[in-house]
Amino acid sequence: MNHRSFKLVTLFNIPVEINYSWFIILGLVIFSLARGYFPATDPELPEAAHWLMAALAAILLFASLLAHEFSHSLVAMRNNLPIHGITLFVFGGVAHLSKEPASPAVEFKMAAAGPAMSFFLAAIFFGLTQTLYGFGLPGYILSIFNYLFILNLAVGVFNLIPGFPLDGGRLLRAALWHFFRDIKRATRLASLFGKTFAFILIAYGLLNLFAGSLITGLWFIFIGLFLQEAADTSYQQIVMKKALTGVRVESVMTRSVVTVPSEITIDKLVDEYFFRFRYTSFPVVKDDALLGLITLHAVKEIEKERWPRVAAAEIMVPLSEKIVVSKDLDVIDALAKMASIGSGRLLVAEDHKLIGILTQRDVIRLFELKARIEE
Ligand SMILES: [Zn+2]
Repeated sequence: MNHRSFKLVTLFNIPVEINYSWFIILGLVIFSLARGYFPATDPELPEAAHWLMAALAAILLFASLLAHEFSHSLVAMRNNLPIHGITLFVFGGVAHLSKEPASPAVEFKMAAAGPAMSFFLAAIFFGLTQTLYGFGLPGYILSIFNYLFILNLAVGVFNLIPGFPLDGGRLLRAALWHFFRDIKRATRLASLFGKTFAFILIAYGLLNLFAGSLITGLWFIFIGLFLQEAADTSYQQIVMKKALTGVRVESVMTRSVVTVPSEITIDKLVDEYFFRFRYTSFPVVKDDALLGLITLHAVKEIEKERWPRVAAAEIMVPLSEKIVVSKDLDVIDALAKMASIGSGRLLVAEDHKLIGILTQRDVIRLFELKARIEE
């Protein structure tokens, strides 16, 4: 999906990805726990023990964040909203929805599930700390559990801040949506809250910076910038979805498509098609029947000396569900398909015949036109 993430596991049919930025934070968390937090709570232990405790606490923190994201996802799935993945980011995670929730009530339940899980975990760790203390368990275990109590509480509270796209912002949006009966307006207001909050974080970070707390300052500025961008993009997504809802592939696709014959050799293909038309892929046909798609990428895989002896049909991506859409599909769904396969174009076919091609650029151009007209 994303080049800055890699897949870790699949749970409940949901692939879990880790964004590389998470490792920076993991390192920071372990370092600050091993050198700051645990030496203060358990000063009698050796340094190696502090590192071990820090690693264990970080793993439990990771599991807690995962539980938070999964409770969002499971509620979403129970309400027929497919989740095609979870990515863990710098501070928490994102569950990838391919559709917006159908009603304010669904959005509300979904958004509430995450913080509810964090508070539940905080209560569990608090209970564990208290009970195990009674049993006289070693102090270092209690320190780890106590840290997780605090962190889960903090994650729950942070996510309840009413700025979209944080969970609190989603709750706010659900309420506004219910009130105004207009998801676009609700999202605009909730994003505005998100941006205001991001601005406060950045200002607070700058104050810290000038007061000499470099790390705290940068930390707040960093989270603020991240939130600001998130608020912007999620609003634009809503606007785009609203503008494109009900638009079918047929009305956006390009009808005159340059196709290549299946038996053409690669050397001719490069000269007569790739250089001439400057597209990065072409549909491959034989007597009107669509056979597949030939990409520049596949051509580059073949050594130049072999070009006169290899035909397009031999190295094309064969026709499959993956590269084809029906003309009746919603453009929004087609875009989601492009995103999920990481390609900017899809073939539009009917009974094995090519009738058009849909590109991301076509859709974005239509959206820009619509936005201009509505201004
Ligand atoms: Zn959440």
